[in-house]
Amino acid sequence: MESAPWSAAWSGEASFTVGPSTDFPGFLELNQAQAPGKGEPLFGAMNATRLRRGMVDLLCHVCGRPTVRQDRYIFPVASGGLVTLLDGSQQYGCNVPPMHRACALRASHACPHLGKVSEAPLRCTRDEGRLIHRTDITPGLEGVVHLLPKGVDVVLSCYRLYGDEFTAKVLAARESWEKVTMDRRARRVRPPS
Ligand SMILES: [Zn+2]
Repeated sequence: MESAPWSAAWSGEASFTVGPSTDFPGFLELNQAQAPGKGEPLFGAMNATRLRRGMVDLLCHVCGRPTVRQDRYIFPVASGGLVTLLDGSQQYGCNVPPMHRACALRASHACPHLGKVSEAPLRCTRDEGRLIHRTDITPGLEGVVHLLPKGVDVVLSCYRLYGDEFTAKVLAARESWEKVTMDRRARRVRPPS
């Protein structure tokens, strides 16, 4: 339990239901059983219900407690991606809940994926992003397709779409991470003198 993030899915949570959404009125939403600690943590997968709670209420991905603006971080390289809007502009979309700084640092040591990426957490700004729901099947949700009613949109996940200012911060963080990583790789292949 110690090292599994709050929003990680557990093997004992393998059942799903579909019901009316309170976060996205007028839609149905997918909910997953709540039994954190039951069975084994599935590190690649997130619990659909806790993930949505984290995204909507800005709860910490690692500990599940609320984040405040002064202590709200994301991993700009490992999380999310650029979304192309109708006018061709691109904005950063994040599909992982934010984290407290201390929790982010703890996660970067405990999580094998983050350990490999090796990046500094980026502090969020005043821009909390626009909450956008998704009704398409994203990786990890293939198993629930058969549960979904036909011809009705069901909210399966959501993300936050950020404005120009925070998008620019994320792009700058990604650029400097790339530079540091390339320098590190270049040093590694240099023959000993
Ligand atoms: Zn936390």
